[in-house]
Amino acid sequence: MSWDFETDPDFQVELDWVDKFVHEEVEPVDMVIKHAWDMHDPIRQRLIPPLQDKVRERGLWACHLGPNLGGPGYGQVKLALLNEILGRTHSGPIVFGCQAPDSGNAEILAHYGTPKLKETYLEPLLKNEIVSCFSMTEPAGGSDPTGFVCRAELDGDDWVINGEKWFSSHAKFASFLIVLAVTDPEESSYRRMSMFVVPKDTPGIEIIRNVGLYGHQEGEGTHAYVRYTDVHIPKDHLLGERGDGFLVAQTRLGGGRIHHAMRTVGLTRKAFDMMCERALSRSTQGELLARKQLVQAMIAESWIQLEQFRLLVLRTAWRIDKYNDYQRVRADISAVKAAMPKVLHDVASRALQIHGSLGASDEMPFGAMVLESFHMGLADGATEVHQVTLARQILKEYRGTGDLFPTTHLLKLRAEAAAKFDDVLYAST
Ligand SMILES: Cc1cc2nc3c(=O)[nH]c(=O)nc-3n(C[C@H](O)[C@H](O)[C@H](O)COP(=O)(O)OP(=O)(O)OC[C@H]3O[C@@H](n4cnc5c(N)ncnc54)[C@H](O)[C@@H]3O)c2cc1C
Repeated sequence: MSWDFETDPDFQVELDWVDKFVHEEVEPVDMVIKHAWDMHDPIRQRLIPPLQDKVRERGLWACHLGPNLGGPGYGQVKLALLNEILGRTHSGPIVFGCQAPDSGNAEILAHYGTPKLKETYLEPLLKNEIVSCFSMTEPAGGSDPTGFVCRAELDGDDWVINGEKWFSSHAKFASFLIVLAVTDPEESSYRRMSMFVVPKDTPGIEIIRNVGLYGHQEGEGTHAYVRYTDVHIPKDHLLGERGDGFLVAQTRLGGGRIHHAMRTVGLTRKAFDMMCERALSRSTQGELLARKQLVQAMIAESWIQLEQFRLLVLRTAWRIDKYNDYQRVRADISAVKAAMPKVLHDVASRALQIHGSLGASDEMPFGAMVLESFHMGLADGATEVHQVTLARQILKEYRGTGDLFPTTHLLKLRAEAAAKFDDVLYAST
């Protein structure tokens, strides 16, 4: 029997080191750089690589990867505990070599790339000498990939891509893009598309504009609206088999979703910690906010939501480690994905409220946290889509009844029980 909620003492030592390092070294970097993925920012280039060296020395680089790809192969539970700490920060994931979307793109390349593609793209990506982009969503709608129209056609030894993609995050920083395109329009919905590695400097790639999230300064957007016009790439830049696009995408999306959730636990805890500190610092009507029962209710409700979510994330991580099969934990991952935005949204909103006008100002990070909750409810699939997936998976375990009344109808249960205990009931009357 094992049912344990404790961290190994040896690993706790590592987590304590990470916690201190992130607080003292990484959080200050967030205050002075614009974007940790921008390899052309000289300030970023001076501040982040030395921190990455310290992480490598400590043996904590790329903890999401197994030893075959240069990581320690910790598994998802340990990664969850680590990512909780990194999730408090913008730069943390990149300092520890486990940032999205590069981590997922690396998984795709490791699974499906040719030796040459691995040498050209995977190796520098794993060292964070370059960064990448995942270019899947289209301007006409992302929730239903079966309606995508961006096209790739064979022309001699080249694939030629034509079409548009929307919200291709980090395209402006990336050395390559992983693009999903229709190769076989006549095939069934889930066999129509294939996945490609597209070098960023290929002629025909145009960033129409870099879309920013609400509140970002003009020109700081990082979510590219990309047009591909006659983009020629070599035949061997196809990942997996022709028509395998959905399968290849799943390789990254399962891990990507749970890793976002692990980091969201950390960001939510940060909002929660700030809420508690403020409640114990601000007075009104002669007493601390912490003494007001309605404030106490907000704190209690936030703690419950956060701890419930954290347990769901850890249990899902444990199930991934146990089964090593994302298909088998699909429902768990959809549950985590669907729960994530609400927990962050609710806790960050309450933290904002408890900080009053200061909370709503641009002098505190709550607005960005609330917006981040919408990011978590959209990227890698809208919440509603995951709710549908979860419900469908759950319902596979149930059967309907042909009877007019449910199997649990009390009249029926009483009649069945009366028949079962007939001798006892009969004897006592
Ligand atoms: C910050 C951020 C970063 C992103 N990064 C990337 C990236 O790097 N690469 C990439 O390819 N994409 C990226 N995306 C895009 C993301 O994958 C899409 O936003 C998502 O798939 C939803 O597609 P859509 O925005 O077109 O919304 P739509 O498909 O138009 O859906 C709009 C809304 O309709 C509702 N809805 C949709 N389907 C259903 C349903 N089945 N049942 C009930 N309601 C439904 C939901 O409320 C949904 O939010 C990013 C998005 C954000 C916000």
